Amino acid sequence: MTAKSMDELVALAKRRGFIFQSGDIYGGLQGVYDYGPLGVELKNNLKAAWWRAMVYERDDVEGLDAAILTNPAVLRHSGHEATFTDPMIDCRACKSRWRADHLDQQKCPGCGSDDLTEPRPFNLMFQTQVGPVDDGSSFAYLRPETAQAIFTNFKNVTDSTSPKLPFGIAQIGKAFRNEITPRNFIFRVREFEQMELEFFVTPGEDESWHETWVASRLKWWHEQGVDASRLELYHVPSDELAHYSKATVDVMYRFPHGLEELEGIANRTDFDLGSHTKNQQDFAIHAKVEPNKDTNAKLVMQDLESKQWRVPYVIEPSAGVDRGVLAVMNEAYRVETLENGSERTVMGFKPHLAPIKVAVLPLKRNHSGIVAKAKAIKKELQALGLGRILYEDTGNIGKGYRRHDEVGTPLCVTVDFQTVEEDGTVTVRDRDTMAQQRVPADTLADYVVANIKG
Ligand code: ATP
Repeated sequence: MTAKSMDELVALAKRRGFIFQSGDIYGGLQGVYDYGPLGVELKNNLKAAWWRAMVYERDDVEGLDAAILTNPAVLRHSGHEATFTDPMIDCRACKSRWRADHLDQQKCPGCGSDDLTEPRPFNLMFQTQVGPVDDGSSFAYLRPETAQAIFTNFKNVTDSTSPKLPFGIAQIGKAFRNEITPRNFIFRVREFEQMELEFFVTPGEDESWHETWVASRLKWWHEQGVDASRLELYHVPSDELAHYSKATVDVMYRFPHGLEELEGIANRTDFDLGSHTKNQQDFAIHAKVEPNKDTNAKLVMQDLESKQWRVPYVIEPSAGVDRGVLAVMNEAYRVETLENGSERTVMGFKPHLAPIKVAVLPLKRNHSGIVAKAKAIKKELQALGLGRILYEDTGNIGKGYRRHDEVGTPLCVTVDFQTVEEDGTVTVRDRDTMAQQRVPADTLADYVVANIKG
């Protein structure tokens, strides 16, 4: 089961503190969202799962965290200044602007008029002034993808880590695109995060690595709780390919508003490294400086057998964090009718993604023995390093359970009189089955690790 509509997810996201319209007390800013107390946990958990799979569980990938502000030369030579555009049309009747390739019919979605201009390219990159003098000579771009900094740091990383092909550089971070029509909640926004891997391979091995990565990324999305029946692969036709791509396979997900791209896996060939190698040498010649021996950016690798220096090819799995959060929330959402006819909403997140792993609830908030024991349990469980453990003394256990169902907390632990006066056991209540069982407090940590990590 998933949400019936985007509205259900938007409402839950706001009600429970996952996602808010940014600056909403002033009417918001279109295409910009903020992550609230639970949203930040969910998002961090998704990013951590990606980092684990892409960096820690492999020995051929290094990480990077590069700057957002980008020297315009980088995005000139990557081709973004010239070609990172979407086709835009204007409605002459109501003056609204639309993305031409998103129109179903040649009519304005705002007022229905067919008095539209011809499409023209609109560059999606944001610019900002750098330094105190605003004379137009000194500006930077907010990066439209995290990938470019991986290419421009290629030599820095390879010099400092001495990898052998194939190897990758991974990065998670913000990207900015001045989308003509941001829409569908956090699906298409102007400020978002990407999780990108640039995996460098020997030319000729690129096509088989491309297939390997497509399969591996599909598997990873399944592991995040995304059902295979709502994922599809789209082999992007050649006339739709980005300027750098030889082949792209999009992982499409059935979002509440339709089947759309969740992740793109592109074969970027040697386009970027090749272009930056060539252009930084031209840059050095024009600037009349010797290419710095330390940073001379020949972005190449030596083939250990043939001893030839070659620009490697690169396979790029590029996933949107926000689209991932939306997919994971949609998958987790379910409404159940209970035996007594009442309904409960459950966010059935995989435990590793759940914003709160365990809620510890004292049965009585004014009973010092129960409170002290509950606080000690919270502290002990928190020290396990599994993520957020919440101590919560609202005093109404039933309501607490329902609230934690709705935010997807896998386990609730209740400390009561029996715990402190009789046998030292606590009640552990399972989010999915609603089953409750007594577990000795002194083996609770093992129980939690087994259930949350697994
Ligand atoms: P679309 O065709 O939907 O505009 P794209 O093909 O331009 O996306 P890529 O350049 O391949 O997207 O970017 C890689 C990933 O970054 C996408 O798969 C998506 O998850 C995410 N992404 C791109 N643009 C946005 C956006 N405006 N809002 C949220 N996520 C985005």
